[in-house]
Amino acid sequence: MTTAPRSARTVAGNWKMFKTQAEVKSFFASLGSELPPQVRTVIAAPYTLLASCLSEAAAHKIPVQIFAQNCHDKTEGAFTGEISAAMLKDIGVKGTLVGHSERRQLFGETNETAAARALSALQAGLDVIFCVGETLPERESGKTISVLRAQCQALINGLTSSPQLAPRLEIAYEPVWAIGTGLTAVPAQISEAHLAIREFFAKFGPPKVLYGGSVKPENFQEILSTPGVDGGLVGGASLKPDSFKMLIKLST
Ligand code: PEP
Repeated sequence: MTTAPRSARTVAGNWKMFKTQAEVKSFFASLGSELPPQVRTVIAAPYTLLASCLSEAAAHKIPVQIFAQNCHDKTEGAFTGEISAAMLKDIGVKGTLVGHSERRQLFGETNETAAARALSALQAGLDVIFCVGETLPERESGKTISVLRAQCQALINGLTSSPQLAPRLEIAYEPVWAIGTGLTAVPAQISEAHLAIREFFAKFGPPKVLYGGSVKPENFQEILSTPGVDGGLVGGASLKPDSFKMLIKLST
């Protein structure tokens, strides 16, 4: 099973808190092994489904990388309900999302905790998709770029002492007002944010920047052709094999 090089476009599905073991089996059976090898395909699954995603992908020879949706910043300890990067690595997971807006808004994660989690995952050898994005009031008050900078700053500080970790980092720009709402940022908004994010991380070699927020087969072509876009982080449209496959094909 060949997987795409790190420089390839990424299409990452975020399954959030969806799916059972049986649904994982049928998803991978319908996904098919003929995914284009030039696209880096990722599925970020709930913890309970990681082992079955790994085994189903291997059984069907599907070139997809399995990610978690978060990890704790400590290796082990008295942190009930948490999972460490070392534990994810131990079961063969390739990477993890960190700092998704739902973690920030619903579970109290801050720029600092998200950065600590991302750095710990990178140090453990995992790949990281680090999520950032502004709320609607922040956009409407002209604060988008300063919010993005603040969300990235603690991570940039950490990478400054460990720049060798940077090549395994991707950033997902996800305007909070576009996640799960059917609203999508327009190309000028996407481009401005992506190019700013590249600039923040420029001293490490700019990371790939993915767009997330109501991506679907009908709008992905235009999003992909927007300057600064290196792929997508997709919630709803990643849950069905047909729409997920279409997004992957559009990325070739
Ligand atoms: C997400 O979960 O990161 C996301 C962008 O969701 P959706 O595609 O459903 O807006």
